[in-house]
Amino acid sequence: MAKPFQKVKLRHAESVQRRSAERKNPNYPRISLKSLFYVTGIYRKAVGARTIFFIVYRIYNSVLPSITAILAGSAVTAIANAVVTRDFVPFFILAAVLLGVQLLDVILGTINGFLSLRTYQDVYIYVSKMVTTKYIQIPLRVRESREFADKFNRVKDFAYSIPSISTSVINVASAIISLISVIIATLTVSPIVTIVVVVSAIPSSILTLQLSAKRRRNWREFTRDRRIAWNIESKITNSNNALEIEMNGLGDYLVKRMIKANRHSQEQDIIDERRFLWPRFGSNILETIASFGVLIFVAVQIINEKLAIGQFFTVRTLLNQLNGNISSLFNNIASVNENLVNATDFMEFMNTPAKPSGDLKISDIPTIEFKNVSFSYPNSNVKALDNINFTLNPGDSLAIVGENGAGKTTIIKLLIGAYEPTEGVILVNGEPFSKIDRESYLAQLGALFQDYSRYEFATLGENVWFGDTSKNYSRKAIELALEQADLANLSATYDKGLNQIMSKDFDETSTTDLSGGQWQRLAIARALFRSPNVLLLDEPTSAIDAKSEYQIFHNIIEAQKGKSTIIISHRFSTVRKASQIIVLKEGKIIESGTHDELVSKRRGVYKTLFEMQAEGYN
Ligand code: ADP
Repeated sequence: MAKPFQKVKLRHAESVQRRSAERKNPNYPRISLKSLFYVTGIYRKAVGARTIFFIVYRIYNSVLPSITAILAGSAVTAIANAVVTRDFVPFFILAAVLLGVQLLDVILGTINGFLSLRTYQDVYIYVSKMVTTKYIQIPLRVRESREFADKFNRVKDFAYSIPSISTSVINVASAIISLISVIIATLTVSPIVTIVVVVSAIPSSILTLQLSAKRRRNWREFTRDRRIAWNIESKITNSNNALEIEMNGLGDYLVKRMIKANRHSQEQDIIDERRFLWPRFGSNILETIASFGVLIFVAVQIINEKLAIGQFFTVRTLLNQLNGNISSLFNNIASVNENLVNATDFMEFMNTPAKPSGDLKISDIPTIEFKNVSFSYPNSNVKALDNINFTLNPGDSLAIVGENGAGKTTIIKLLIGAYEPTEGVILVNGEPFSKIDRESYLAQLGALFQDYSRYEFATLGENVWFGDTSKNYSRKAIELALEQADLANLSATYDKGLNQIMSKDFDETSTTDLSGGQWQRLAIARALFRSPNVLLLDEPTSAIDAKSEYQIFHNIIEAQKGKSTIIISHRFSTVRKASQIIVLKEGKIIESGTHDELVSKRRGVYKTLFEMQAEGYN
């Protein structure tokens, strides 16, 4: 059995090997000037003309300490001289210049303070617009992959740290300017002082950079753990899960799991920090002793009349500056480095190709045809759809029935272009999907999925209007849609009517919260308000009682007269109204026809299911 220290050695060797292999990977994140320019480019675009002011202010602010140190040191010498010569003019001149320099700093500083918050917000908003706009352009099949989810988390991390990265980049630039000016100022006193102090700061600077490189790697390596922790946290704090978590008494356990994942993701940082403790301590001591030695050296020079008395003051101030500058420079470089690690992901994300689109515009109810369509989800070799054929002519109503997992939703996903068939073609007005202009095609469709949205922050009216914001906000049309979705009385129950915000989380004065079924009806009202040429309904009434469902479907069929509808439902009272029914099993169409045709079949699957459900209602 390996002894403990051998085990540690082995583990270390393994990790060195793994990391060196990682570094050879072309996708390994590297800090590049390109990403630095990229971030500063975003900053410049978001901040606009104000950038110039910030540059001027930062440069001034960076050289100010050195100028002040020299002026103040000279002033001390001038006082010492005046004591002997009784000539105070040189001192007053220096004092006036010092005051002027400081006042200018105060003025610029106040303006800077005023502009900074606004600037920070501008960058934040600019970036969040960039990310969300891009996100919705990326094809669903790309968004659904796990790699994308991991990457997108890093993209978000990066995006929301851009305002602070910009601040760190600016800090690096000003620390460099400041450092140069302090070095020049110290050189005017004594080159030896400069050399000793700069050299003594090298070890701690190297350590800071090394530690940050480790952090960067850790951050990337533990993305998955952080994702788990976030996921659990959102489950705990999301009111949709509250009841289930409480009933199952799962709360404490979930909190423990979240903490475990969080700890796991941060453990390596602590180990690295501990490893660096002693070297850091040593390097800091070295710096302190070097600074002290330098002051003694200057004092001796003054005693020997090689330096003026005020220069002690100058060196003392500059030393503080120098040490502060060097550590600020490297800390900021480290922070930029740590944050920039996800810049590659971000740039890649922003360059992800948008959904492809042809240029044949669709302006009316389209004919949609599935021709020998088969489909497997990415990374799956199971056919979710197998040789599907059907045609949806304008005015048709098509019902799809089948067990869970039969492939019903997948048909809808292909039909809206979220995925492309792996075999066969989808034709729109006889043309392949790739030739069709996506936007104009999607404008003809309206869909309602099992996972419909709840716009809790918005008003009742807006929850309906969001179905088509290109239309005017018409109270009449909104009320009609609510009526068709069997929610005619809802607005009357609120003092604010259609203007009622739909969740008490966003309106302190409200006690409003809808039931699951009411939310679903609201989503139906939204789909009906859109009044699309092709309405796709994927089990839209799962949370609604049978009687309401019957009524709602009656209304939908009335509203959709002359237009097309595809409906996925388990309720045969609804399905039987469709002009065409297909029965799916394991991705294949096993039966199709009208309700009457299908129930007249002997030993048909549809017939059996229909009879079973009919019995249940007796
Ligand atoms: P239905 O709507 O009939 O319940 P789906 O169309 O949702 O069925 O699913 C058909 C099959 O495809 C199922 O086996 C399901 O597990 C699989 N599937 C669905 N969505 C995905 C996905 N995003 N990735 C991989 N497999 C999926």
